[in-house]
Amino acid sequence: MRFIETHAHIYSEEFSQDLAIIVKSALSNGIDKIYMPAIDSTAIDSMLAVEASYPNNCFAMMGLHPCYVKENYKEELLIVESWLSKRKFAAIGEIGLDFYWDTTFKQQQYETFELQMQWALDYDLPIVIHTRNAMGETIELVKPFAKKGLKGIFHCFSGSKESASDIIGMGFHLGLGGVLTYKNAGVAEAIKEIPMEWLVLETDAPYLSPVPYRGKRNEPAYMIEVAKKLAEIKGLPLHEVAEITSMNAEGIFKTT
Ligand SMILES: [Zn+2]
Repeated sequence: MRFIETHAHIYSEEFSQDLAIIVKSALSNGIDKIYMPAIDSTAIDSMLAVEASYPNNCFAMMGLHPCYVKENYKEELLIVESWLSKRKFAAIGEIGLDFYWDTTFKQQQYETFELQMQWALDYDLPIVIHTRNAMGETIELVKPFAKKGLKGIFHCFSGSKESASDIIGMGFHLGLGGVLTYKNAGVAEAIKEIPMEWLVLETDAPYLSPVPYRGKRNEPAYMIEVAKKLAEIKGLPLHEVAEITSMNAEGIFKTT
């Protein structure tokens, strides 16, 4: 069985002491591709270093995360733009809207998200979307770009049944992580009727560990718990969940 981990911050400080063990553990669980979303310019060097250490298994994205859209967002965007012109990335991400922590830069978040979606079209790359407390706004903003052929993933999907069907209606995939294993989160219910072809797996490591690791540092190997939960919800054997979600992920990240 092989799996693809579509979203893990394994280049972050939390893994600096034991990254080799973490990657080995992912590989021994059949997870042979790990996609790493970018955050802001301060994390690029460490992300690219991980990619250089594991060129067959770890792939970098490029982008400015909505929570890092601050006073200096224009400089940050210039850095993203220059990297995009320099080399190939797996996707533009994670990008989107986050009105949960802080709405001071709401307008700049919109501007940043739209600009990066346009770059994704220009470079023919998929996007990986982060949205929090902004699902309706995010879907509205993505819609015109989706019509122009933009594809990607709504990472860490935890919305309603209606949002799920709006998202797949635009041709976007849903990224399922640890939240799927949480009782009362409602994600299982929201994705129950969504066809498997629209689902991919992720962890968002080091955050959001699935049950039974909830509260601990998350890592790609724990994604198996998410896959097991999805198999249970869909009434499918685990190997089928592995096959379909891997095929979906490969279709999205077509270049790597
Ligand atoms: Zn993330």
